[in-house]
Amino acid sequence: MSDAPLSRPVQFLKGVGPARAELLARLEIHSVGDLLWHLPRELLDLSSVVPPRALQEKEEQTVRGVVVDLDAKETHRGKSLVAALLDCDGEYVRGVWFNQPWMLKRLRLGDWMLWSGKPRRHQGRWEFAHPRLQWIDEEDRVSHGGLLPQYPLTEGLRMEEMRRMIRHAVDEAADLVPDHLPASYREERGLLPLSAAIRQVHLPAHRAEYDAARKRLLFDDLFEFQLGLALRRRAWKRDAAAPLLPLTAKIDARIRRLFPFRFTAGQDAALRDIAADLASGRAMHRLLQADVGAGKTVIAIYAMLLCVAAGYQTVLMTPTELLAVQHWETIDAVLRHSRVSRALLTGSLTSAQRRRTLEQIAAGEMQLVVGTQALIQSDVRFARLGLAVIDEQHKFGVAQRATFAAGGASPHVLVMTATPIPRSLCLTQFGDLDLTVVSDMPPGRQKIVTSRITGAGARQKMWEFVRRQLQSGRQAYVVCPRIESSDRINDQEPHAPPLATLPEAGVIEAHQRLSRVELQGFRVGLAHGQMDREERARVMQQFRDGDLDVLVSTTVVEVGVDVPNATLMIIREAERFGLSQLHQLRGRVGRGKHQAYCFLVSEATDADAVARLAAMERSSDGFEIAEQDFALRGPGDVLGTRQHGQLPLRVADLVRDAEVLEEARAAALALVESGRLDQPEFVPLKLRVLERFGKLFDLPHSG
Ligand code: ADP
Ligand code: MG
Repeated sequence: MSDAPLSRPVQFLKGVGPARAELLARLEIHSVGDLLWHLPRELLDLSSVVPPRALQEKEEQTVRGVVVDLDAKETHRGKSLVAALLDCDGEYVRGVWFNQPWMLKRLRLGDWMLWSGKPRRHQGRWEFAHPRLQWIDEEDRVSHGGLLPQYPLTEGLRMEEMRRMIRHAVDEAADLVPDHLPASYREERGLLPLSAAIRQVHLPAHRAEYDAARKRLLFDDLFEFQLGLALRRRAWKRDAAAPLLPLTAKIDARIRRLFPFRFTAGQDAALRDIAADLASGRAMHRLLQADVGAGKTVIAIYAMLLCVAAGYQTVLMTPTELLAVQHWETIDAVLRHSRVSRALLTGSLTSAQRRRTLEQIAAGEMQLVVGTQALIQSDVRFARLGLAVIDEQHKFGVAQRATFAAGGASPHVLVMTATPIPRSLCLTQFGDLDLTVVSDMPPGRQKIVTSRITGAGARQKMWEFVRRQLQSGRQAYVVCPRIESSDRINDQEPHAPPLATLPEAGVIEAHQRLSRVELQGFRVGLAHGQMDREERARVMQQFRDGDLDVLVSTTVVEVGVDVPNATLMIIREAERFGLSQLHQLRGRVGRGKHQAYCFLVSEATDADAVARLAAMERSSDGFEIAEQDFALRGPGDVLGTRQHGQLPLRVADLVRDAEVLEEARAAALALVESGRLDQPEFVPLKLRVLERFGKLFDLPHSG
């Protein structure tokens, strides 16, 4: 069987031609096969179509027919009126459009259409005013159980044209689609053959057929992705002989003694996972997930010291220099009385210091290194690297991490995220890593009192409260979503302007105003992303040292900053942030012994924003918040960067299809780990996975 008809240029398919082919190319549809894979967004259910005689007054209903009359006139008030007559199998309904003269051009005599709306009786006839419109094909009248697929379109292509082209493609080529799953495996899992699935997803006889077809295509999409991840894990485990880093009771006791507290049950469980990996001789690739403040750093330090105790070097990498400095200070304090040789690599070292440090690392004399990921990956050569800890890497997905893991020898790798990630997202973006979740908190953590602040009066009260807190020695963050003010209006608070024209103050202006008015007499610092890096680091340091009462900033304080005396987090235009980001910002306070507060200043009234802010007031559980954020906004936004959040999935939607994802993941792991994937009957599947993900996941060709 040849698959040539599948790769034939779509232009040569019946009913396409060069003009439509050009439009299809905009949808990445080039071949007949591409057209087959252009899947419906949803199904329009025509079984709910009502014949005119059965219509009810003022209820939402749909009629189907052909346009047989069309005219436009002026009403006596000088407005335009377009009217059309729809012939529904010999019964007629009228459609009317007031002041939409262009409707005369949009509708054409002979168009087959669906009209939906609430009709009324008028002059002895049913009338739809401004109905919702769907163009259909004449053939759609009799189609397939009254179910009409709705396709993504591009300008210039009509839905019924798309449907017709796809119908031709199905007739011509659906049966030729090769199935890469062995029949036996398909049957085990209750999946349709691929060609049947393609046919049924486009031409379902009833809803159950469509669902089964979609399930097969969805499963394939997620299954192949998970197989790619599973193969990557296997390659790591198989090829990468990693340093043996055994834990003894003596080492354990010596490390624990360095901390002034007992580890939580969650920390202990995480350490057991990690210690087992480190002693296994196979490279660890583990993701450590925990809520803000749950004590990930402690876990990382323990693992690093275990590595050092076993005679290897270890490194902690951060995305920013500020975080590197902060981790360094924590580590340095823990190791106050220890002889572990250690270095902080930052841009502020002199070149002589830097050269010396790099030499010591290369010679194996330096046991523990902290620095930014950029610096370390470009400059540093280790003599005996045993463990790399990567902090705050939730913004990097599977593809971005590949380059790191591929460089040099195979140390153990522990990835830590700053904030909880929804499970389905975690299983994709981090699906190649083993997962450890810490879900408890160190004892005595207080709930951060969170309130939404709306209106000038509430803002004034808030500032009064803030001033009292500052007077009693606490510190505050004020976070603004932007650097420059929007130029619509100057910040006139507290003479509050009308809601519709509320000022959107940038951080620079907010800083000026707060220092002058609301927080006059306090020491107010400013930090944002366009400042000189050293200057910014200096301001942050002043805040940490208590030389500033207030830090007005953009989200540069988001990640990992730890100032226990800061108890106030004021977020302006809070509706502009996603839930996870708000949660992370809030996590900057509540780290000390004093009660902490978070104020979400927002005048937003749209439902989505209100829902998010209400979720913040209600919940302090980062995992719960992450799931809600995901459901509201989708993967790109949750990961914080749309580009990096892009997932190479074709059909699946991680929010909607979470259940199939779990199933596909379990199936993929079982197939790879049992070795069954290596049997000859699975060769087509394996080739397909390599073709789709081999490069992205850096998979070996032998699998
Ligand atoms: P994360 O990195 O997960 O946000 P950190 O590791 O920075 O959390 O820990 C937050 C704070 O809690 C730190 O001040 C740390 O010293 C403290 N801490 C961590 N673990 C414990 C524990 N088991 N008991 C008491 N305090 C802890
Ligand atoms: Mg941390």
